[in-house]
Amino acid sequence: MNTFHLSGYPRIGAKRELKFAVEAFWKGAKTEAELQSVAAEIRRLNWAAQKAAGADLLPVGDFSFYDHVLDLLCALGGIPKRFGFDAANLSLPEYFQLARGNATQFAMEMTKWFDTNYHFIVPEWSADTEFKVNAKNLIAQIKEAKAQGYDIKPTLVGPVTLAWLGKKKDGINCRVKDLLLPKLLPAYAQLLRELAAEGADWVQIDEPILAAEAGSAWLDAFAPVYQELSGTGVCILVGTYFASVAEHLDLLKSLPVQGLHIDCVRAPEQLAVFAEGWPKDRVLSVGLIDGRNVWRANLSKVIATLEPVKAKLGENLWIAPSCSLLHSPQDLAVEEKLDGEIKSWMAFAAQKLVELGVVKRALEQGKDAVQAELAASDAAAADRATNKLIHNDAVKARVAALPKGADQRKSPFAERIKAQQEWMKLPALPTTTIGSFPQTTEIRQARAAFKKGELSAADYDAAMKKEIAYCVEVQEKLEIDVPVHGEAERNDMVEYFGEQLSGYCFSQFGWVQSYGSRCVKPPIIFGDVSRPNPMTVYWSTYAQSLTKRPMKGMLTGPVTMFKWSFVRDDIPLSEVAKQIALALNDEVLDLEKAGIKVIQIDEPAIREAMPLKKAQWDEFLAWACESFRLSSTGAEDSTQIHTHMCYSEFNDILPAIASMDADVITIETSRSDMELLTAFGDFKYPNDIGPGVYDIHSPRVPTEAEVEHLLRKAMEVVPVERLWVNPDCGLKTRGWKETIEQLEVMMAVTKKLRQELAK
Ligand code: GLN
Ligand code: ZN
Repeated sequence: MNTFHLSGYPRIGAKRELKFAVEAFWKGAKTEAELQSVAAEIRRLNWAAQKAAGADLLPVGDFSFYDHVLDLLCALGGIPKRFGFDAANLSLPEYFQLARGNATQFAMEMTKWFDTNYHFIVPEWSADTEFKVNAKNLIAQIKEAKAQGYDIKPTLVGPVTLAWLGKKKDGINCRVKDLLLPKLLPAYAQLLRELAAEGADWVQIDEPILAAEAGSAWLDAFAPVYQELSGTGVCILVGTYFASVAEHLDLLKSLPVQGLHIDCVRAPEQLAVFAEGWPKDRVLSVGLIDGRNVWRANLSKVIATLEPVKAKLGENLWIAPSCSLLHSPQDLAVEEKLDGEIKSWMAFAAQKLVELGVVKRALEQGKDAVQAELAASDAAAADRATNKLIHNDAVKARVAALPKGADQRKSPFAERIKAQQEWMKLPALPTTTIGSFPQTTEIRQARAAFKKGELSAADYDAAMKKEIAYCVEVQEKLEIDVPVHGEAERNDMVEYFGEQLSGYCFSQFGWVQSYGSRCVKPPIIFGDVSRPNPMTVYWSTYAQSLTKRPMKGMLTGPVTMFKWSFVRDDIPLSEVAKQIALALNDEVLDLEKAGIKVIQIDEPAIREAMPLKKAQWDEFLAWACESFRLSSTGAEDSTQIHTHMCYSEFNDILPAIASMDADVITIETSRSDMELLTAFGDFKYPNDIGPGVYDIHSPRVPTEAEVEHLLRKAMEVVPVERLWVNPDCGLKTRGWKETIEQLEVMMAVTKKLRQELAK
């Protein structure tokens, strides 16, 4: 038999039942027992779906009330001491406090899991970090699954990856690896022994660090670590995903483990390397069903790819999704409003299970056993290749016909900025904001009511105009030089544009966990992208009509538009990006025509869209930056293009950022005390820069001294004639009162420094 297994499944419930139950528990509206029973029901349904599809080894340990990395830390007892909790007897409320903070302790930090939008809780490593195993939750879930009659395989994040992901806190001076692994490892081994005692024959130990570039010190840790874990009584399947691990073939072969999982969706080329070089007496699990996307697989192709591997490895070929299905929405069957044709090309987690079941039967019984399923899959693939909903000849022709140099502005920056200064007549240290202003309850309610049809178009229009007018009035009073309209009409910076572009569609229930109880429903790019009608001109020109200052129009850039969506997998990403860029370009030129001559194209997702492997960075950055430039191609020299990137660490990609050639870039710098800006200074970044002078994450109003300190620091590294003043990021999560107070401080400091400069 060819074992069909998986390492994880969506755990929020097909209609987000867990989210609602957890939030009710937080509010005191549900007891712990009630929450536990919702959780048990979700696990029961998930396992039943997996079994029904033909899965042989079902995952345990993939369920979590908040985050599975936090669960593992709790099982290992390695929680931060600062909370004062007894790790061996951690209660559920205490567990949530680790994730969310409490009256005396701030929450543990969160960060994105590799290049996904899933946020995990970052382990805190300090000199006093200790581990004490408490596996009771995991063991309870094993017992639960066994009681339901299933064969199971617990999945855990591996010790090397866990150590690497943690953040060094106080008191650790030497390398985390040397200090931490010796303490972590005995606990990890103990945990495995306890799982073995519960009858877990196999444990999947995920080491995605192998697909990233962690450096040789971490790679060297693998041999001793896995030596230690090999005597614990379980068979170990090392899990990797999101990129190739082919360069580690020899290392992986040398580990005393029983199997390896590789992601052959993200890195198809590694299959040949492992099919050739992997020992025949060990399991090779091949992930050919995409765990991170919403598209149906081409099953004939998948089976044709696997057949020669099966001929080599026999039963040691296992099959699985490319990675945990945590990253895909749960069940397409509950969608009622998706276009039927588009739906016929899609597969969510539940459908991916069925696909794997078909692959398994084909491998074991031959293709004839699954003739009908293959015919349906072939038909969907053939339809997708030609369907006019997807393929728009005009869009393809436009991209293909782009002349060389189409992505370049008319003149170099030095000339453009002169043309801009001529009409903008900005003072020294011009001030602006990043785009959004407070999204009040009234704004959200008006938008929601309009969407539901409860608010007429005319009333909605009036409500939004009222908000925009207030926003402009506030900025007038503050004397902000380049005001914005405030983005009241936008629920989300990607969804807003996706809804108006052809080639995008939206599911009703395609939620994916982002962190804790928070889920996102990414737009879906299914076809060629174009812009049927102007998207922002109406609101921006209304805002401009209220002020003589230059109103800044606000768009979301091509990389962010695809990175925060599910993207079609039938053409290269670079193609998708270029199509979006040209759609945005239509908008840029329409804004310009309508008199909006300052336009910001946000690209906060560039950093996280970068490939995990450095070797692929240059190629990615080349087309990503080209797409950004394409979106403002043809704009007049006197039109000022801004971009914004938040929270990005881009010291190492500054040449690429500079190549985007935005006239002004605004970045987040306040929390790092302008550290990032120093890199811009050293690099001699050529265009204008607006470093954030205060943190927008907190309602706290900064003192003038704080803002002045930051601005003076900025003036040391950036020539003052190229320096702008702005907050770190958009203000949508803040309230009006604090927003105005914060901006007042920013303006007061700016004016003070302007006077000084005038002398
Ligand atoms: N213009 C957006 C805003 O201000 C930018 C948000 C972001 O950088 N993520 O909300
Ligand atoms: Zn931002």
